[in-house]
Amino acid sequence: TAATTTTATATTNNPDKPKSRKKDKAPRIPPPDMIVDNNGKMSYTRGPPLGEGGFASCFLISDQKNGRFAAKVIQKSELHTAKARHKLFAEIKIHQDRTHKNIVKYYHCFEDDNFVYLVLELCESKTLMELIKRRKRLTEPEVRYYVKQIVAGCAYLHEEKIIHRDLKLGNIFLTKDLQVRIGDFGLAAVLLNEGDRKKTICGTPNYIAPEILFDTDNGHSFEVDVWSVGVIMYTLLIGKPPFQTNEVKAIYKKIRDNIYEFPKDVPISEEAKSLIARLLDPKPRYCPSKLDRSALETAPNFDREERLFKQERLQQQMQQ
Ligand code: ADP
Repeated sequence: TAATTTTATATTNNPDKPKSRKKDKAPRIPPPDMIVDNNGKMSYTRGPPLGEGGFASCFLISDQKNGRFAAKVIQKSELHTAKARHKLFAEIKIHQDRTHKNIVKYYHCFEDDNFVYLVLELCESKTLMELIKRRKRLTEPEVRYYVKQIVAGCAYLHEEKIIHRDLKLGNIFLTKDLQVRIGDFGLAAVLLNEGDRKKTICGTPNYIAPEILFDTDNGHSFEVDVWSVGVIMYTLLIGKPPFQTNEVKAIYKKIRDNIYEFPKDVPISEEAKSLIARLLDPKPRYCPSKLDRSALETAPNFDREERLFKQERLQQQMQQ
């Protein structure tokens, strides 16, 4: 059988918040009020916290010219295992040099005695997770607006041979003027050679593609992100994830059996339903004859989805 590693992400009991810190860990200490990058001779003033993840705390920081950024701060004491260091280096390596209008901009990283800092574009309107909590669900034109940008960012990553592997509402950041920025490359992987497959079981329960869980011999590839975009699209339209239940095991069973439904009380167009069904379609992935690289490449799929969105928008404009 395949060598598989289960990350904390896949074994959590909260299907949306996988990265809770272990309770036995020492509390984090805040970074200094004045953060100094000796190498770049830069200094930043630390502002209020923006959020906390399993791995890092995030703070608003400003430079001397009043430029505002998000600093992802990792306490060095949490980097004592080789695995943790490897994870951080992988995240930096993948995120740096990636430039796209729908990807959180990575500026640089540096360290002081106690912390490693990643200086990132500030996304002031938080994430789609907070948006959906406030709004419950979005209208179809709004969902098209967001999903189209997620698809554009994701297609760019795939062209760069990167699988994000943790696309979910909480990792879709929003700028002040509500532009989409995909962030958190903590689980991302690079597929250097065409046809390479990944075998690590990782992701977030509600968003995890069936082949990650159940096709561990074959492994998985870019199409797992397409699946997650399907989960995101459904969640934005309906207000809750398609496979959501109280029990993570039951979620996985629903994912395996592709069991989800559209509640009758939420109006949703046939076009949206069919797009979700195509994004959440496990069959083509499991067809052995299609398990060759050309059939599984997702970029062409994304092109198709994007064309479909444009077409829908046109139709809608014509109806208005
Ligand atoms: P981890 O990898 O530990 O999960 P995240 O990258 O998810 O860390 O960041 C933790 C939290 O910090 C996020 O949930 C979010 O609230 C906040 N955050 C992260 N990046 C940004 C950003 N670029 N702009 C604003 N807030 C951010």
